Amino acid sequence: MEPCEFPDIEQQLAPVIERHGGEPNRLLQILLEVQEAFHFIPPEAITCIAGYLGLPRVSVEGAAGFYSFLSLKPAGEYRILFSDNITDQMLGNPALMQAFCNKLWLESGKVSEDNLVSADRTSCTGMCDQGPAALVNGWPLTNLNQDRLDLIGNLIRDRIPVSSWPSILFEVKDNVRRAGMLLGKHSEPGFAIKAMLERGADATLMAIKASGLRGRGGAGFPTADKWKRCRDSPGLAHYIVCNADEGEPGTFKDRVLLNSYADLVFEGMTIGAKVMNSAKGLLYLRGEYRYLLEKLEGVLARRRAAGLLGRNILGNTGFDFDIEIHLGAGAYICGEESGLIESLEGKRGRPRNRPPYPAAHGYLNQPTVVNNLETFACAAAIAAHGSEWFAGMGTQQSSGSKILSISGDCARPGIYEYQFGISVREILDDCGAEDTCAVQVGGPSGVLISTKEFGRCISFEDLATSGGFTIFNGGRDILRVVQNFAHFFAHESCGFCTPCRVGTQLQKKIVDKIADGHGTASDVGELKNLGRIMRTMSHCGLGHTAPNPVLDMLERFPHAYEQKLKKLAFEPAFDIDLALETARRITGRDDAEAHLP
Ligand code: SF4
Repeated sequence: MEPCEFPDIEQQLAPVIERHGGEPNRLLQILLEVQEAFHFIPPEAITCIAGYLGLPRVSVEGAAGFYSFLSLKPAGEYRILFSDNITDQMLGNPALMQAFCNKLWLESGKVSEDNLVSADRTSCTGMCDQGPAALVNGWPLTNLNQDRLDLIGNLIRDRIPVSSWPSILFEVKDNVRRAGMLLGKHSEPGFAIKAMLERGADATLMAIKASGLRGRGGAGFPTADKWKRCRDSPGLAHYIVCNADEGEPGTFKDRVLLNSYADLVFEGMTIGAKVMNSAKGLLYLRGEYRYLLEKLEGVLARRRAAGLLGRNILGNTGFDFDIEIHLGAGAYICGEESGLIESLEGKRGRPRNRPPYPAAHGYLNQPTVVNNLETFACAAAIAAHGSEWFAGMGTQQSSGSKILSISGDCARPGIYEYQFGISVREILDDCGAEDTCAVQVGGPSGVLISTKEFGRCISFEDLATSGGFTIFNGGRDILRVVQNFAHFFAHESCGFCTPCRVGTQLQKKIVDKIADGHGTASDVGELKNLGRIMRTMSHCGLGHTAPNPVLDMLERFPHAYEQKLKKLAFEPAFDIDLALETARRITGRDDAEAHLP
């Protein structure tokens, strides 16, 4: 450990770093605390942290620059991030943000001159069922309207600490509209662990196999196969990782599982620990759900006190397991399992080369299982109620239920749990959607379907989804929807590989060009070309799926873009006449001769 040359900063940092054991793996958690204390990451703090953790300064700066909730420049004592998700846009967030900036004399994306406040946009905050939404210093603001923003503006001007703001501003409802096999039951903590211990760990793994449980994150890999591969991989330790980084815009069911069903999730992780002989679990909590951290720590403490975590669980000698929570910091790519593991190790969340897969070489290069929290909840339910019970629901290839996050143009947005096999049409009727013209199933990386496909079913064999279900009625401009998704992917690409880094930017520019009325048939051809390259050449799933919404629109919603195509002949993306506008303004010339034909 090198001494820090900035004594003032050192004084504040030392206890933080000590609390995190001086471990380089805790770098992201340390940076988050520094951000909270200073409202940005001062350069001196980077130098000190690097010295304390024995890391190159560039590694610390690189990590700090990777995550959107960390800021290398002062971001204001109050930092407001408006959700830029399509449903928040539909509910009026852009106009609300503009009005807020006007009220406080702010320029969006910049901090006020007195360093008091900044306002900017962020990707989906996971509050699509109660938007327009935003975050203030990491705390969720829901159901925003002009009155609420006026109040918030006054609270900021009066420098009232966020912790003293009226609680109504931060109210987050579960909005569970339909409960099934998971959400319909609140069993005693420990119920599934006891059942697993009675049955035995190996028999429980066989029950999970027989149940047909597949991962709920969207890819649908058989859970028992993943667990077995991890259990059988040699290593110094085995790790259980719960992926609670639901960054897919339009998906918010994990928020509800964490808020009201955390015991079920921890129960599933503990069962996994016994099966895979693991002593340590990690829950990766997305930064947007930071407000749930204290509550979750409370659940863990209660479980420790009840003998459901810690040493000799439920009196079983040698059954030792505990769970640690790591916070994310606003990076969609950390939902990808190897990117998430990198982030858990305190690094930038850049996806790894695969193979080797995490089941053999994951966290700290040891065998690791990464599952979505809904998968762990299902595993707990199977341990308690058996494989036949679970396999008796759903379809042949998709057993059990799926929790959907429903938002957009419907009367009753919220959380709905259905058995697999439910049709899109039935769901639309259930949530009070009318005049629907399109549904985005599985978020922007999923599939955008049209009315002709409303007979299709939610299942791995038809419409696989991580849980997002966003509804658009006939009054919506599908091109604007797809434009939002194209901007999202361009923003969230981690930049590691060229097909995705460049492809997502080009895709965004071409969609913007078409939306602005300058598109041509050749641009449509270029989008198809780019989509093919990104799908086949990108390093990870983000790049593979980034062209999905654009290609779906080209195939299913031709009217959305054809009417915007200016002419059939090629038109350059760069508008020279528009670029000369500044020169015209400076010279005071705006006659016909000053314009290009
Ligand atoms: Fe990063 Fe995109 Fe490449 Fe994935 S595909 S590694 S997100 S640049």
